[in-house]
Amino acid sequence: MGAKHRVALYGGTFDPVHLGHLEVARGVSELFEIEKVVFIPAQLAPHKLGRQVTAAVHRYAMLALATQNDPNLLISTFELDDPARRYTVDTISHFQTVWGETKELFFIMGADSWDEITTWREWERLLKITNHIVATRPGYEINEPPLNLQNQIVDLRGGSQSARQLTQLTTGTGIFFTDVVMNDVSATAIRHLASEGRIDELVQLVPESVAEYITKYQIYRNSNEA
Ligand code: ATP
Repeated sequence: MGAKHRVALYGGTFDPVHLGHLEVARGVSELFEIEKVVFIPAQLAPHKLGRQVTAAVHRYAMLALATQNDPNLLISTFELDDPARRYTVDTISHFQTVWGETKELFFIMGADSWDEITTWREWERLLKITNHIVATRPGYEINEPPLNLQNQIVDLRGGSQSARQLTQLTTGTGIFFTDVVMNDVSATAIRHLASEGRIDELVQLVPESVAEYITKYQIYRNSNEA
């Protein structure tokens, strides 16, 4: 039997999607020989309740524009379709049920999300049901969580592991730390630039089509976060 197809799920608010997200998706796809990355926009991030998140339809539209020309980057509306779908652990279980044993699953997150992982719903189970890829992000350390996960962690930072070696390392519940991408763009910075009409700077942080959409519909005109 041939190797299983690898699929990565990439959860987030994507308000808006930016070049950091896209670089992470493409970078880890290449490194781990992942065929498809599925962006899964959240209704609202449970840990970001303090801020009004942009309407799902706009966040979805921007993701669609950003991924339109890349057949390996997909979007799922699974979490948007039902307000009860709020937790990554449930989303991963859903996709495991749908795909059964046919695919090898990975979940992608950035170093800042990893830093907060112990606040996530059923985080210990979450880390045991699938592979995780933690991408470095400037300004955030990758710390080990307060639980002995030594046997799951594969630290690829600074290394030159070949994809073949990675394949052998994968056990189905690996937690891979990778520095394949180092880009300090954030959605917060983009919302700030957009609210000030700084379009020239915006186009360096999001795909052109997304910058045009933000400008056309004035998505972050009233964004006045600190
Ligand atoms: P915000 O500025 O609103 O907090 P964000 O830029 O962190 O947003 P999210 O949609 O919250 O974007 O991120 C989704 C996922 O992508 C998270 O796991 C986050 O850690 C990761 N991520 C976002 N930007 C980067 C980046 N520049 N490098 C690595 N990972 C990133």
